[in-house]
Amino acid sequence: MSPDDSRDPAHRDNGHEAAGAAAFVPETEDLEALRAAAADCQGCELFRDATQTVFGRGAPRARLALVGEQPGDVEDERGAPFVGPAGRLLVQAIDEAGIDRDQIWVTNAVKHFRFTVRGTRRIHQTPDAVHIAACKPWLSAELRSVAPDVVVCLGATATRALLGTTVRVMRDRGVVLERDTSLGTKRFLVTVHPSAILRTPDADRPSAYAALVSDLRVAAAALQLLG
Ligand code: SF4
Repeated sequence: MSPDDSRDPAHRDNGHEAAGAAAFVPETEDLEALRAAAADCQGCELFRDATQTVFGRGAPRARLALVGEQPGDVEDERGAPFVGPAGRLLVQAIDEAGIDRDQIWVTNAVKHFRFTVRGTRRIHQTPDAVHIAACKPWLSAELRSVAPDVVVCLGATATRALLGTTVRVMRDRGVVLERDTSLGTKRFLVTVHPSAILRTPDADRPSAYAALVSDLRVAAAALQLLG
């Protein structure tokens, strides 16, 4: 590791087992108690360089939960998920899908920002399987507490965290998948992460966005059917 690399979390602990968040998760379904405890989590190395833990937010009894990958640069600074550019796109898509944005829970599979430093910029790094596994106890605890009727996995990391590696986003998107889990819900739907739409070339972005809205409408319809 060069001296400069010491600032770069991507160069630390690669390939090592993380102890995981389980020891930090209190036995409670109180979301504010979970949020407070998560602020002190050291279940993997990502806490060292990120600004803060970014716990979920929204309606405590939401019928729909949306799970992303990890906080981005803006979310890390502000301490709330989906408040940056991808979050704004997601809110727009939620509105177009006819979902009440005040009746959802939004969170991430990994609660700390993983990044690499390039000059003065912090560049997003996809979390590894070890980070997803380490952080899973927080995601499980908040989903058990909220107990949504449907969980939307936004992108591959959330899909992997909740449904394993056999579900593929592009192959299996836009349909309700029923799974027996201990997470307080049996219904999942996978779709792309809104940041993927922001990265889509201009010519293809409208159709990519329309596909996201279409997937979210399937989730909205599932909620309506459930009553
Ligand atoms: S990423 Fe998750 S497991 Fe790792 S320190 Fe942060 S809250 Fe804990």
